[in-house]
Amino acid sequence: MSYEEICKELIASKAVSFGDVHNFTETPDERLFENFFIFCQTNLLERCNDYDIQPARFIYTTGYNVNARARFSGGFNIIEINIGTMVETHKRLSSHNTLFKENTEIIKEYGKLEELIKISLGHIMFQAALQFTYYHELAHLVQKPFEEFISLDEQKHEGTEDKYSALKHCLEIDADIHAANLVSAHVIDFWKKQQSQDPSQENLSKLLSVAVSGILNYFMIMGHCDKDLYYMECSHPHPVIRAVYITEKIIQVAEINVEFKLDSGAILQEAFQITERFCEHHGLPNFAAKFDKIFRKNSVEIGNYIDTMDKFAYEFPNLMRNKFPDRE
Ligand SMILES: [Zn+2]
Repeated sequence: MSYEEICKELIASKAVSFGDVHNFTETPDERLFENFFIFCQTNLLERCNDYDIQPARFIYTTGYNVNARARFSGGFNIIEINIGTMVETHKRLSSHNTLFKENTEIIKEYGKLEELIKISLGHIMFQAALQFTYYHELAHLVQKPFEEFISLDEQKHEGTEDKYSALKHCLEIDADIHAANLVSAHVIDFWKKQQSQDPSQENLSKLLSVAVSGILNYFMIMGHCDKDLYYMECSHPHPVIRAVYITEKIIQVAEINVEFKLDSGAILQEAFQITERFCEHHGLPNFAAKFDKIFRKNSVEIGNYIDTMDKFAYEFPNLMRNKFPDRE
């Protein structure tokens, strides 16, 4: 189905309203929107039959803020991504990202890798961030039904206050873990295609750090990074905590698929480093330095919190990890 057909279908069945749908035809970013739509809608149609989420549709919504959500409306399972998410993430991480082209330290460490893969590493950051968003929302669709929510929204859970509950954090962690799982699979897939030229372990670690940095930056673009560390507060876990378990999952999945060990701590530190340099280079508030400090100071407590939520997760049968334990 084309994007236009999907929009017409959803509007006709009152699943979305006409004014909320973004039509990207003949806009400057048409190809960007079209390509990502094809990736997501194909995945929903072809790969997700056994998740019991059909009919499932992917659309862009008109908001210029950075947000994404999973909704159930008019008989459809819908993933919605705001225009702002696409435009801002692409600009920040890909088209306006000059870190890998201008920063001499970074060029020394990453120049050869970029030459080898023939794609800008900024674009890899962007792809990791966007794929992460899509797979995160996909997991929210699989987690239904949760009647207390109108939608599962990445800024705050609509229909409820942005207050903490064990269920909310478990839903978000579950969606993050699913997304980390799939982003890692994409990075490995991409890396394996480079193998004939240079199958080095070092390059895989670097690619994984770049992908994690893309996800960290996405949290910053979402505007979730100015808070001090918290545990049982808000609808989403603190971004540092998210970064820790997301990276662990990314490394874990990568290690299953390669014949050597990877260093999760080193890859996370490197992702913080790239992100710090990214912020310095572009004159952005350096949230990564704060992240790194929080992580070093609280790594034991963060680990304990992740373990606690892991135990809570068994109480919620709707989580992806409980519905499809073989895949998570
Ligand atoms: Zn979420």
